Amino acid sequence: MTDSNLMEKIVSLCKRRGFIFPGSEIYGGLAGTFDYGPYGVVLKENVERLWLQMFRDSRDDMYGVDAAILMNPKVWEASGHVAGFSDPLAECKKCKKRFRADHLDDAKKCPECKGALGDVRQFNMMFKTHAGAMEDDSATVYLRPETAGGIFTNFKNVIDSLHPKLPFGIAQIGKAFRNEIAPRDFIFRLRELEQMEVEYFIHPSEWEHAFEEWRKVMHFFAEAIGLPQNMIHELEVEDKDRAHYSKRTIDFEFEYPFGRKELWGLAYRGDFDLSAHETNSKVELKYLDEATGEKFTPHVIEPSLGVDRTILAILTSAYREDDMGADVRTYLALAPKIAPVKAMVSPLLKNKPELALKAREVRAELQKIHPAIAWDDNGNIGKRYRRQDEIGTPFCITIDFDTLGEKPELKDTVTLRHRDTGEQERLTVAKVAERIRTAIQ
Ligand code: ATP
Repeated sequence: MTDSNLMEKIVSLCKRRGFIFPGSEIYGGLAGTFDYGPYGVVLKENVERLWLQMFRDSRDDMYGVDAAILMNPKVWEASGHVAGFSDPLAECKKCKKRFRADHLDDAKKCPECKGALGDVRQFNMMFKTHAGAMEDDSATVYLRPETAGGIFTNFKNVIDSLHPKLPFGIAQIGKAFRNEIAPRDFIFRLRELEQMEVEYFIHPSEWEHAFEEWRKVMHFFAEAIGLPQNMIHELEVEDKDRAHYSKRTIDFEFEYPFGRKELWGLAYRGDFDLSAHETNSKVELKYLDEATGEKFTPHVIEPSLGVDRTILAILTSAYREDDMGADVRTYLALAPKIAPVKAMVSPLLKNKPELALKAREVRAELQKIHPAIAWDDNGNIGKRYRRQDEIGTPFCITIDFDTLGEKPELKDTVTLRHRDTGEQERLTVAKVAERIRTAIQ
């Protein structure tokens, strides 16, 4: 399978099985936007829930916020986005198409019509709109280009309301918007994206320790969501490529089918953000250490994770094809913790009410462990298994006449089928429940 072939297969599976659809599809789509469908949205929620558990809820030093997407435009002046959140743009003089200049092999020639490209200019990637009835410049607001802005502006609110001691952090999941010149590679480069970000506030002397700690948490998270460690590569961003205020940045790159590209980032941002917001807002954004009497601007470590790039990494690394001779079995080897459906229960035959009754009972029993236990009695059992394989359901459970006691020694046992191997075993319902519980813990 070639890499572009793999992407085509994943895009097609996502659409066919209700994971991800092109945005506004019935109107021909809108570049850089995608909609999560019934299974995609649950996969995304499962990933986000794990992130919240690991980055926020299991820790005493973390707090959550859910800030507004529209913010006072001064936020983005202070952060430097109004002046500098731009990508280099080159326009073809002949066909008028626009390209990201730093992604071109030949900076002079149009990759589409071979016409000459004009001079490169900076293109600001923030989406602009207007708040209220006036449409003049005084009413300009931006859709936030990153969620971090809403964290920094709430630093003082969190300190004043909850009085946390340093070090502490604020976590947020939410949408961000970037007017990318060339959205591409399915959900890798979007115009509307989702981020999971932490700003971790520290005493400047603690930065190396905190940086290492978050770096480990990011790897634990990768493991928890089932990303193969050997497909993740840390890239130390060199001095010349780093923002001037950052003393260290690591890009976590992932081996996507279209190349090794940035999945997540971890940055030491110094006191850049809080100092800039303090200067611009004229509101003091400092921390008073009551034990030592020292008052200072905390420094910040920022683990920043894109949700959509995470989902794409999960899908591309979980996609499998098994050659079965007559045909090919496709499945997603998703970690049971994040699989949208944990197990499927089905009666062997559709038109036998006694089987359905027992199967419903078994399903209700298993739903005490997790609600996402599906029901399927359509088509033959082989087809049902294949449908679940394609959405990454780790277990299928079949109820037959032996379950009902046709062979007395097998009464109340069911067939448990494993997604990755296709192997089946005969177990009691209690044992099956135990297997599911252990797998999704
Ligand atoms: P790139 O260099 O690929 O444009 P970036 O360095 O600008 O990315 P950051 O500003 O560090 O990205 O954003 C933090 C995270 O948000 C990224 O690591 C990525 O996971 C995600 N992200 C950024 N831009 C996009 C996008 N256009 N579409 C989807 N996810 C994105």
